[in-house]
Amino acid sequence: MSNIAILCSGGDVSGMNPAIKHFVEYSLKKDLTPFFVYNGYEGLIDNDIQEVSYRDVSGIINRGGTKIGSARSKRFMNPEYRQIAKDNLDALNINMLVVLGGDGSFRGLDAFYKEHSIKSCGIPSTIDNDIHGTDYCLGVDSALNIIRTSIDAIRDTASSFNRAFIIETMGRDCGYLALISALTSGAELCLIPEREHNISDYEDNFKTQMAHGRKYFIAIVSEGIKQDPQEIAKWFEETIGIESRVSILGHIQRGGNPTSYDRLMAYKFVNYAIDGLLGSHTNSVICYTKDGFIYKSIDEVTGSAFKLDPDLLRLLEDV
Ligand code: ADP
Repeated sequence: MSNIAILCSGGDVSGMNPAIKHFVEYSLKKDLTPFFVYNGYEGLIDNDIQEVSYRDVSGIINRGGTKIGSARSKRFMNPEYRQIAKDNLDALNINMLVVLGGDGSFRGLDAFYKEHSIKSCGIPSTIDNDIHGTDYCLGVDSALNIIRTSIDAIRDTASSFNRAFIIETMGRDCGYLALISALTSGAELCLIPEREHNISDYEDNFKTQMAHGRKYFIAIVSEGIKQDPQEIAKWFEETIGIESRVSILGHIQRGGNPTSYDRLMAYKFVNYAIDGLLGSHTNSVICYTKDGFIYKSIDEVTGSAFKLDPDLLRLLEDV
């Protein structure tokens, strides 16, 4: 029997727990001995590694976050600590490693692989959906559902009080969450980092809408835009003439129960990861593309900057 470990690194997402559960079950099915590494690369360095079985993953499929913790690790940037991590894995005869994380985590995994040849596989996991080479990252659907529920609730109060709401979503420099949320929530305005904007361009249109009876506005703005949401609220009050509020959704976007889609994607990502490691894929990331799941090298995934799909970006023109 071979030994295989899993860890979560960087930002947590809802969907990690279903992936961890299936990792244990699928490993056992494939005659592998599964191990958890707690708290990301920190746990590799501190030897916080434990053999696990079915009972360790019961009751977690419906829970957000990650049972095994996630972390950022400054020490793992240093080859000396990566050597300690390798020694810890060797002591437990672990020669395969699955990492749930973003492109930073994959860069760390790549360095680890290149120094120590441990068979490794990355599963893209970030609500920002900003990893080059994959159309989908674990956790995105759960985050979108939380955002949609929040916007629906805000719409109720916005319409009762005749207000404009400026709702900020996460995403770092990527406007994916804001764009999809705006399209699926009927927002009147969507501002994302990929499109420069000048808020005054909307003045005539919004004033006309007000003149024709519009009672409230929903504006979705991504955290990466170069304008403070408070400034946009002020513009609505002073220029459009409607009372305004700002709502920063923040970390609720990372929590909540994983959706059915994320549970299914977790299942598939893990199958591909373990099958790949048992086959010929030694240093790859599982990417979900228009052609289905494919293995890409970590170099390919981390070597280029992420760009939002132009077809999606074009949809913004109709918001
Ligand atoms: P994410 O995976 O969500 O992009 P980070 O960029 O914070 O998150 O990276 C997570 C962790 O990956 C870092 O704390 C560090 O331990 C490791 N890491 C990132 N880049 C490197 C690198 N170039 N070399 C070694 N480890 C790295």
